Amino acid sequence: MKRDTLIRELGLGPVWRLRARAADAAPPPEAPEPPEPPKAGVPPRLTFPPEASEAGVPPRLTFEEAASADGRTAAIARMGWDELKSAVAECRACGLCQARKQAVLGVGDVEADWLFVGEGPGAEEDERGEPFVGQAGKLLDAMLAAIDLKRGDNVYIANAVKCRPPNNRTPEAGETAACWPYLERQVALIRPKLIVALGRPAAQTLLRSEVKIASARGRVFDFNGIPLIVTYHPAYLLRNLPDKAKAWEDLCFMRKTMKGF
Ligand code: URA
Ligand code: SF4
Repeated sequence: MKRDTLIRELGLGPVWRLRARAADAAPPPEAPEPPEPPKAGVPPRLTFPPEASEAGVPPRLTFEEAASADGRTAAIARMGWDELKSAVAECRACGLCQARKQAVLGVGDVEADWLFVGEGPGAEEDERGEPFVGQAGKLLDAMLAAIDLKRGDNVYIANAVKCRPPNNRTPEAGETAACWPYLERQVALIRPKLIVALGRPAAQTLLRSEVKIASARGRVFDFNGIPLIVTYHPAYLLRNLPDKAKAWEDLCFMRKTMKGF
């Protein structure tokens, strides 16, 4: 379907233009996707914790060890929502606990068909305890509206890491590994019909492999029997407006995939 037709059909052009206006003022960067500096050829860091210099941190562990240390994963895998909430609120399993104001577990319908997974809380999320409430969150809400979805209504929103990385840096592999059992438990409790990974860190955490959004979008992956689709992170789209067109296509693809069930 042509993009213009899609935009017309969805009737959402004005919404998107409105949301985009603030960002339009910024120079349109021609930055290559993904938003982080290119890491071509650099193997994923699977050690934990990432920085040996952090005070009081436990010894370096592999991804599996970090995720399963001391039967922690097994314990988390048995938790209900209340336990999960308190475990995350008190969690000190990685260095991100040090600078957070509060951990941000997720928000929405615990029986949702749709699960959207972002990267990690930013400043506003850290302040308010809810994912995607800042600028990127506004765009995510617009993206949801584009396919007739609404935060909290058949939609659950979570992040790959529950605590804000200092200066909004990309979470390290060791941090996503340490936080992984929580997300895995959230998926198991929600049992969504479709998972949408927003951006590279979320996609890589869920798929456990190197992912390039440009080549991963438009495909249906499998996560423990649940279809998973990858698209751009809304914060990336705010900086790379031309790629919003591709995000539209991805939204359409998601909706089509969901309708196919
Ligand atoms: N970006 C994310 O990845 N998650 C949030 O919750 C907010 C911004
Ligand atoms: Fe625990 Fe995850 Fe926060 Fe790290 S980011 S302290 S693993 S809740």
